[in-house]
Amino acid sequence: MKIKHITPMGYCYGVVDAMVIAKNVSKSPDLPRPIYILGMIVHNHHVTESLEKIGVKTIDGENRLAILEQIDHGTVIFTAHGITDAVRKRADEKGLTVVDASCPDVLITHEIVKKRLADGYQVIYIGKKGHPEPEGVLGIDPEKIHLLSTLKDLENLELTGKLFMTNQTTMSIWDVGDIMQAVHVKFPQVVEHSDICQATNERQLAVAEQAVGCDLTIVVGDPRSNNTNRLAEVSEKQAGVPAHRIADVSEIKADWFDGFDDTSTVAVTAGASTPTAIVREVMTYLKQFDGHIPSSQVTFEDIIPRGAVRDLTKKRENRL
Ligand code: SF4
Repeated sequence: MKIKHITPMGYCYGVVDAMVIAKNVSKSPDLPRPIYILGMIVHNHHVTESLEKIGVKTIDGENRLAILEQIDHGTVIFTAHGITDAVRKRADEKGLTVVDASCPDVLITHEIVKKRLADGYQVIYIGKKGHPEPEGVLGIDPEKIHLLSTLKDLENLELTGKLFMTNQTTMSIWDVGDIMQAVHVKFPQVVEHSDICQATNERQLAVAEQAVGCDLTIVVGDPRSNNTNRLAEVSEKQAGVPAHRIADVSEIKADWFDGFDDTSTVAVTAGASTPTAIVREVMTYLKQFDGHIPSSQVTFEDIIPRGAVRDLTKKRENRL
């Protein structure tokens, strides 16, 4: 069986910046303690656990304004997903020191939306319900910004006047295209601004092109990571290749490879919030299959002894 490394994959510039910011805060003696992150800095629990070890505690929850109430003093870091002005204001009122790790691409969306609202538009925002990035955008003006997660949501939307539409940066290019097309039919006056970020765009196109002809795609990333889940979807819908999403190497099941032979190919990609060391562990595991076919009787521990896994994990923790 052959392994195909899809490129680009893994960490994006926004996530790298957010990680560097959090680590620098942990090293800065001048910033008040304790140090908190409001929500998961990126949607990957390996990252969260590593930051906890250097004194940066994650306060998780869907409503950022509500979870901010759990913090009385110290420093609060806002995540790469962006934040509402109401949360910034409340953090100031509480006397917290604020460090903003919002991705510049998300902040650009906020600016575009604010400008359109100031020009008298209502905004249709295509994004995932309950995800922090839409929460940050909707918080700009909950009455004039309308969230569309699926085509079904469009049936219940009745709007008149000037309309603008944009989207969450990590959506599927194709899903956003389909929804935008339907919005144009229902609201012909709508002005469109597609806003998939460059990192998401490149990773999705890479899977759509490079996974074609493979027998399976393994997508490495946290179950809560929107861009990771979209990569699995792109493999299935655009490349026509079945996909499994895994958080790390321990979730690979040998019976996925039943019936594979030496002409079979497994493509590997990773979400923008997946640490490189976790992807490397997956690649190391899959390389064990070079020259022979994995059996469903073989377990993860049979192929990589537990000690070796511990070494890999230790290296990963040192790097984060
Ligand atoms: Fe920024 Fe895109 Fe990365 Fe999200 S996926 S942090 S928007 S670069």
